[in-house]
Amino acid sequence: MNRDNAAELDAADPLRGFRDRFVVDDPGLVYLDGNSLGRLPKATAEAMRATIDDEWGRRLVGSWSSWVDLPERVGDAIAPLIGAAAGDVLVADQTSVNLYKLATAALDATGRADIVTDDSNFPSDRYVLDAVAARAGGRVRVIAADPVHGPDPDVLVAALDGGVGLVSMSHVSFKSGAIADLATMARIADATGALSLWDLSHSVGVVPIDLAAAPSAMAVGCTYKYLNGGPGAPAFLAVPAALHERLRSPIPGWFGHDDMFAFDPDYRPAAGIRRFAAGTPPIVSLRGVELGAALTAEAGIESIRAKSLALTELLIERFDSDLAARGFRLGSPRNPAIRGGHVALRHEDGYRIAQALIDHGVVVDFRAPDTIRFGPAPLYTRHVDVVDAVDRLVDLLDSRAHEQYPRARTGVT
Ligand SMILES: *Cc1c(COP(=O)(O)O)cnc(C)c1O
Repeated sequence: MNRDNAAELDAADPLRGFRDRFVVDDPGLVYLDGNSLGRLPKATAEAMRATIDDEWGRRLVGSWSSWVDLPERVGDAIAPLIGAAAGDVLVADQTSVNLYKLATAALDATGRADIVTDDSNFPSDRYVLDAVAARAGGRVRVIAADPVHGPDPDVLVAALDGGVGLVSMSHVSFKSGAIADLATMARIADATGALSLWDLSHSVGVVPIDLAAAPSAMAVGCTYKYLNGGPGAPAFLAVPAALHERLRSPIPGWFGHDDMFAFDPDYRPAAGIRRFAAGTPPIVSLRGVELGAALTAEAGIESIRAKSLALTELLIERFDSDLAARGFRLGSPRNPAIRGGHVALRHEDGYRIAQALIDHGVVVDFRAPDTIRFGPAPLYTRHVDVVDAVDRLVDLLDSRAHEQYPRARTGVT
């Protein structure tokens, strides 16, 4: 595919109008890191300004009457994007903190001490799960996942017994982008009396998710990647209503109390999803999540997924025609049914190639030891951006521009 063909696809793209809804300061920059930090929606900047000037600046503490249930209202806006019911999603804290709360609650509720995860799960999740299992007197059983295709349900079956209270994995792998079979593995866990807890950070807003098809599946996820909520925007957690009563947050703060303004000396958890809240929510950042979720809902997750697959398919086509012969290997599934929103391309010189590519106006990121992630977020990435990115990559490889960069990692990647 050449640039003209790509431009034709862009002209026919049903989502083409959405790029203008984002701040695009440098039109020559190809931003393929929406899987790490989504771009700023114009409406978000306005809404945050209004929240600061009018709600905080003028109405001061009186604004809390409209702010206090924002974590649940924004949770309700995320619910349809993940196949959860209204009332089952709360926006609060960070993904790591929500994982800690729900994993701890799950072991307490099942009276079991072991957790199963897989070796491709996100490191922060591994740290949290290790700590939670250790506190319960158990351990994490780590199953081997295929580095490209992700965890296999049959391997999960073999790891489960009556000692496992929780199965926790990522829905989409942060490295390979493989989509795990959430519904099948949640059912496998359920059949052994274990709960399951899914990290949706790399799927929410780009891959359709159907938590309703997975009994007893809980979820956490972040909002600053494909949901474009903004840097450090609060994360979400999802718990099916049937589990609310059974689970107690290990951080019983006043925002999770049944009657928070009674200032009761004793903790009594709220009846619904709010029992998983702890302290005061970050209101300005919550506006970013609210607007980001609304933009995603307006575009429609099925349209977003269709465009995402077209963009990653184009990238893989160019991998086959131009990059395989230049030392790259495909680190993501070819099968579109199990490929998430980004494509991992592996190269033994990946670190300095990624640095050189960024300096050539293509923002990607690098994950050790050899993976460059290309995340073409569908709401603002065009087909021509993918073509330009690969053209610039080919140019720099052929001119060996990357060889001037240090091999060692420095700073944020
Ligand atoms: C980005 C990401 C997170 C983020 O965790 P925070 O605690 O919100 O910083 C968690 N899990 C996965 C899989 C991620 O990709």
